[in-house]
Amino acid sequence: MNIFLNPGHSPNGDPDPGACNSALSLRECDIALSVGSKVLELLRQDSCNVKLLQSDNLCGETPSQPDITYAANSWPADIFVSVHCNSFNGEARGAETLVYSGSAKGYVLADNIQKNLIAAIQAIDSAFTDRGIKERSDLAVLRYTDMPAVLIELGFIDQKDDAYILTDHQDEIAAAIRNGIDEYCNIP
Ligand SMILES: [Zn+2]
Repeated sequence: MNIFLNPGHSPNGDPDPGACNSALSLRECDIALSVGSKVLELLRQDSCNVKLLQSDNLCGETPSQPDITYAANSWPADIFVSVHCNSFNGEARGAETLVYSGSAKGYVLADNIQKNLIAAIQAIDSAFTDRGIKERSDLAVLRYTDMPAVLIELGFIDQKDDAYILTDHQDEIAAAIRNGIDEYCNIP
């Protein structure tokens, strides 16, 4: 099983740190890379083939950086998982998993990850919100990947309780993502 992990945004090249929480000096790109790296370690323990790539070049628009969708398609990956954080108004909370519109397999993968993630985080903070699964046809990493692909929004970096979970409970988050992937792939 070839699993492609894509921590969102990129601190390199043309800086695109993603969403930020300046009060807490948090950047989405750093949280996504840290969580993604933990998922990579866990999946390798499950004997999966795993690649991780963080880049602002989603599908050829920034030739100076590695192309994410090309790398996933040419490997080829069996599943694609992008890791992000949300930001809105400082009050919104919760996790959601995005999937390409109409992708039945992608929806199953998203559902497995979302339910594991929500259970793990609500065990830490029962007020954490399940924002569910959302179908999107406009996101490049979902649209231009050939395999079931999901984009996880782990939580809101600009909300203090979510920010605490995103920084202090990355091991639980990574384990939940691993468990969701394992269920999809029938890895015992
Ligand atoms: Zn993002």
